[in-house]
Amino acid sequence: MFLDTETIRADFPILSQKVYGKPLVYFDNAATTQKPLSVIRKIEEVYSTINANIHRGVHRLSQLATESHEEARKTVQRYIHASSSNEIIFTRGTTESINLIASSFCRSQCKAGDEIIITEMEHHANIVPWQIQQDITGIAFKVVPITETGEIRLEDLEKLISPKTKLIALTHASNVLGTINPIADVVRLAHSQDVPVLIDAAQSVQHIPIDVQALDCDFLVFSSHKMYGPTGVGILYGKENRLEQLPPYQGGGEMIANVTFEKTTYNELPFKFEAGTPDYVGSTALGEAIRYIEKIGLENIYFQEEKLLQYATERLLQIDGLRIFGTSKQKGPVISFLVKGIHPYDMGMLLDHLGIAVRTGHHCAQPLMNVLGIESAVRASFAFYNTEAEIDILIAGIERIVKMF
Ligand code: PMP
Repeated sequence: MFLDTETIRADFPILSQKVYGKPLVYFDNAATTQKPLSVIRKIEEVYSTINANIHRGVHRLSQLATESHEEARKTVQRYIHASSSNEIIFTRGTTESINLIASSFCRSQCKAGDEIIITEMEHHANIVPWQIQQDITGIAFKVVPITETGEIRLEDLEKLISPKTKLIALTHASNVLGTINPIADVVRLAHSQDVPVLIDAAQSVQHIPIDVQALDCDFLVFSSHKMYGPTGVGILYGKENRLEQLPPYQGGGEMIANVTFEKTTYNELPFKFEAGTPDYVGSTALGEAIRYIEKIGLENIYFQEEKLLQYATERLLQIDGLRIFGTSKQKGPVISFLVKGIHPYDMGMLLDHLGIAVRTGHHCAQPLMNVLGIESAVRASFAFYNTEAEIDILIAGIERIVKMF
């Protein structure tokens, strides 16, 4: 279905802004998405009507705030088709979710010499936590190479799996190349060898329907702020039996059953992993963001973004000397590129002065940059509220900059 972009854009107040006197063209959606009014209003509503610390209070406001937080957990459960809301852990974001698993999993289930497998296209958030564990527990990690088109091959992954492999942790969609990895096949292959899989869905959960039960993945993580929700909230999904086997990540209030100076027993799932006051305002607003996505329809979102990706790719490739990194057939709405002779920072800065927000740099994927043989790139990433007319503005901007150089 074609989306009525004009009506949709009216839901996002920031999009009607001007930057340096030019209409804002926001193409930095892979870094964070803009927020619809319903989400912004929900934050105001919680603080204006039910704000109180949750779970511990007997008073009315505390009960309402608790209900609101727990309702949001159920909304997330429904969105990713988890079998129980006990499998939904609120964190601060994808990064914290991966750190939680890296710490709790390696501490309890790995010994020196055991191996974790990642891929060359991972974000730093799915590299550095494993390196920290390498220092603490002596695990090693192996890296699946990418092909010319920026994809992984199952046979390369299979070659790396050994009796020492304890976990495969990979991104569903690359934040640089756009590549959508065949995660269902990866899970099947991994499970045939009794290896659990963690999926980084930071760049997919806002674009593609995810059914964790159909996928059968063991862990899946994502951030609210990349899916039209507020900052500071993220999700760790884990199969209940997997989460049961893991020790807590942080200690403090809420995650305990009983505390004495001699011994502490831990709360049950999901609270065992939620030490301290959670961001119940953020979680409630994330629930609202999910309802917004569901109202528009993920299939419609996917269709619109795919159209924008195709159009932008075609138009960009017409520019002399422009090279796109990542040409996978299955690709999310992310295009990283360089124009010969123009430093990406210059490109980003000059586009900014035309009101166009793109990202430049290593995109928190320095090892991938090394593999690609570059230091940085320009990245334009789209959301369903973007338009082909905005892509025309980007193309005209790049052409103008090319002429200047
Ligand atoms: N993984 C991927 C693939 C990402 O794109 C990002 C955000 N750029 C992250 C992890 C980290 O997300 P956050 O900063 O929200 O924790």
